[in-house]
Amino acid sequence: MLPWNELLANLAIVALATSIWTAAHSWMDTISLTRQRIAFGVLMAGATLIVMSVQFQFTPGVFLDLRYTLLAVTAYFGGPLAVVFPAIVAVTKRLHDGGAGVWVALPHISLAVASGLFGFYRGKGTCRALPLLLLSLAVVFSGTVGFFVMVPYAAWPGMISKVVAPFSSILFVSTFFASFAISQELKRQRLAQQNQIYRAVFEALPDCLNAKDLDGRFIAANSATAALMGARQADDLIGKTDFDYYPEVVATSFRNDERRQLTSNAALTVEQRFVRPDGEEAWLSTLKAPLRDASGAMVGVITHNREITVQKHLELRLAETRRNLADAISSMADGLAMFDAQDVLVFCNTKYQSLFPVTADVRIPGSPLRAIVQASVERGEVRPDAGSGATDIDEIVSQLKTPGLVRLLQVADGRWIETRSQSTKLGGFLLIFADVTEAKENAQKLEALNQKLESLANTDQLTSLPNRRAFDRQLDAALFQAGVSDTDLVLLMIDVDYFKLYNDCYGHVAGDEALQKVASSIDQAVSGLHGATVARYGGEEFAVVLPFASVAEASNVGKLICAAVRSMSLVHQSNPTGHVTVSVGVASIMNQREARKDALLEAADRALYQAKAQGRDRVHVDTVVAPVSKHGRLANVEACCGGPSSGSPTC
Ligand code: GH3
Ligand code: MG
Ligand code: MG
Repeated sequence: MLPWNELLANLAIVALATSIWTAAHSWMDTISLTRQRIAFGVLMAGATLIVMSVQFQFTPGVFLDLRYTLLAVTAYFGGPLAVVFPAIVAVTKRLHDGGAGVWVALPHISLAVASGLFGFYRGKGTCRALPLLLLSLAVVFSGTVGFFVMVPYAAWPGMISKVVAPFSSILFVSTFFASFAISQELKRQRLAQQNQIYRAVFEALPDCLNAKDLDGRFIAANSATAALMGARQADDLIGKTDFDYYPEVVATSFRNDERRQLTSNAALTVEQRFVRPDGEEAWLSTLKAPLRDASGAMVGVITHNREITVQKHLELRLAETRRNLADAISSMADGLAMFDAQDVLVFCNTKYQSLFPVTADVRIPGSPLRAIVQASVERGEVRPDAGSGATDIDEIVSQLKTPGLVRLLQVADGRWIETRSQSTKLGGFLLIFADVTEAKENAQKLEALNQKLESLANTDQLTSLPNRRAFDRQLDAALFQAGVSDTDLVLLMIDVDYFKLYNDCYGHVAGDEALQKVASSIDQAVSGLHGATVARYGGEEFAVVLPFASVAEASNVGKLICAAVRSMSLVHQSNPTGHVTVSVGVASIMNQREARKDALLEAADRALYQAKAQGRDRVHVDTVVAPVSKHGRLANVEACCGGPSSGSPTC
């Protein structure tokens, strides 16, 4: 006969304790885990005391109860802190009750506690079925192993069938269901906590997050969604649609996006433009994902909105700025090419390509500068030696890259292009190309004009010989050179004889022509002499500067000049010779470094005067010694050219 009353009482106590715990646990969230465990232990200690007080007998003299279930379950879910209470109660009660089996009962209690603690530490109180099954088996073992120790082997069959088997079944069932019930409560609690976390995240999210059913009605929404839509709170949105909050056009566009998502059956990202309730334009970046039920069927749409109005305005402004910049760059008169730190072209304007039409195909982003220069040289577009003198491609590349260096390229078609380089902040460089052909041609024209002006300023218009201004410079230069090189210098002053009378006789125009011829013959006479320069000194006077010449040589040159003029046989009836003649005064500095220019001129003038005085058509030499006052004249050589003596001819 089974002790049903006590057995059922044991089972009821285990069930009651478990139920109390699962019911109380849901409102214990506010107290700490330690306190929860202590409360759990105290509850189980009470239950243990009660089950030990209402023991049942399967066979006379053997009293049993479900303390092992309570101990193991307490240890499994509450750990040592919880199990210490029922364990103390169980041990104390057992010792207090006494009897033959007391020293077997204590190890049983320990085994049950150890089984639960093993599960607590090993599986961390896991709620899966297998660990619970193992825990139940361990409790069965803890509660029955003692019988096999105490009962002689011969009595085992009877003991197994009468005690061990039914007690094992009850221990197993009570442990499994008690632990299962507690595990379900823990699972529920964890889910509730998780849900609470998700809810908190959902609410705290600054982005809008909501879910709608297949008809576009809100079934969940967070506060950010409510704020965006102008609703008082998120709950107000439930059951409503976008049509309740937005103008029809906007709501229809939103609904169309959702329909697209529903038909595509996959997540979709779109940018949505709308007007806020306050009339301001706004932009959303929206992700729409399918909402499915447990069977996988689509039951709605989850929408995540992030407001990107500020970002969108910045993007629009950036795009506009880029457009303006691109317009400005493309309409620039200069070519622009930007290279990165690896010398690779990253950006250029159309002007850059149009400046180099032969290699425009190479001048595109991605091309290295070296390849561009190489193509340009190989195709003969740019003369490698023009401008900077660089012939090697690497040298040209290096010069192009040098910041601040202005380089001039001549394109084969004759254009001149100026290049400048400027470093960029990212380690690259910017090349600026300007077509300077017109400026270059203008500069050349200006230079030619300047040369012409310079030439005009230094040339006598009547005779085309250097004028007095040029003569002064020539004489200065010659004097300086003579001083530096320690060489001689001779000056010849030439004056046309009786020229006033020539004018009087033949007129001024004829006089001019005569002067031209005299100038030409003098010029020819000295043209072969090294370093000799002829100038029209003034009126009908000419001057010849002869470097490196001795006095004797200069005298001979003077004679040559006289002969050259005479040999033209220009009729001059007022000249006693009947022809145009000249007189020549020669002066030499004769190695006198300090001889001054005016002293030389004066000496030449004196010599000329002497030549005139001695009858004209002749040469007179005067050597200058500086200072003239100290040394006086070194030599006075008269060189008669066989001309008539002076007289007073008339026209
Ligand atoms: P002399 O033999 O002493 O030199 O007598 P001269 O008549 O040549 O005397 P002088 O040197 O004083 O006269 C210079 C004359 O040369 C005066 C002027 O009429 C003339 N003459 C000077 N320059 C020019 C010129 O450019 N063209 C013409 N046709 N005559 C000039
Ligand atoms: Mg004169
Ligand atoms: Mg004269």
